[in-house]
Amino acid sequence: MHPKKRLLDDEAKRLLAELEGKELTARDRNRIPLQGMATQDPGERILNMNEVALGYTEAQVRVEAMRCLQCKTKPCVKGCPVGIDIPAFIHEAEKGDYAKAVSIIKESSLLPSVCGRVCPQELQCQMYCTVGKAKKDVEQSVSIGRIERFVADYTREHGLDEIPRVGDDSGKSVAIVGSGPASISAAADLRREGHRVVLFEALHKAGGVLVYGIPEFRLPKEIVEYELEILRKMGVEIRLNYLVGKTRTVDELFDKDGFD
Ligand code: SF4
Repeated sequence: MHPKKRLLDDEAKRLLAELEGKELTARDRNRIPLQGMATQDPGERILNMNEVALGYTEAQVRVEAMRCLQCKTKPCVKGCPVGIDIPAFIHEAEKGDYAKAVSIIKESSLLPSVCGRVCPQELQCQMYCTVGKAKKDVEQSVSIGRIERFVADYTREHGLDEIPRVGDDSGKSVAIVGSGPASISAAADLRREGHRVVLFEALHKAGGVLVYGIPEFRLPKEIVEYELEILRKMGVEIRLNYLVGKTRTVDELFDKDGFD
């Protein structure tokens, strides 16, 4: 483990031993310090292309999840573009049931490893967080993105991910042009409704901006490939080197290929 991460982990383990099993009041939760995330130092990061942000440890994620007040009105959800049930998945993270946490996230988003890394949470869910508002500092909000990243990484690394269910065959075929995050999300939602889905990607790798726009040190390519593999397992077909408008026109997709 990276030495900076180990230091944070030691402190989180000490806190966890103190807090675990206690009936925590809102006041207790408010007193729990924000869990920082270790990063590579500039001197290290110029020598490699690995991720700069090193993620939480298990003790850290449990302690950070304990900071959540489980607000009845769920203000954080209003700030999430896909409406993830944030308090519900954080509650599972607090208990240590990371697979359940991910299954809750995947009801609304197929990309927790990606969103946990690259979503601007401080302008979305975390901006609405009651904890940050009470402390008048958005940086003190519950670290929703870091928790999301940890639970997604944990389930991936431990082989605990389940393939989201797909609906009964609707008999309809949908062509999606491009294979970036919007297309991936649309494809997953359409498969859940039982439609046949084909993604057409003009370039030789799928993922769009996730692959061609975000550098490796922010979002490792193997994570994008893993999420695309889940999509394939849901039955989505991905056709590469296929330029809609040239390889095939939109009219041809409708008239010759039977898309609806
Ligand atoms: S607003 Fe913050 S404290 Fe409240 S449920 Fe959401 S994450 Fe938890």
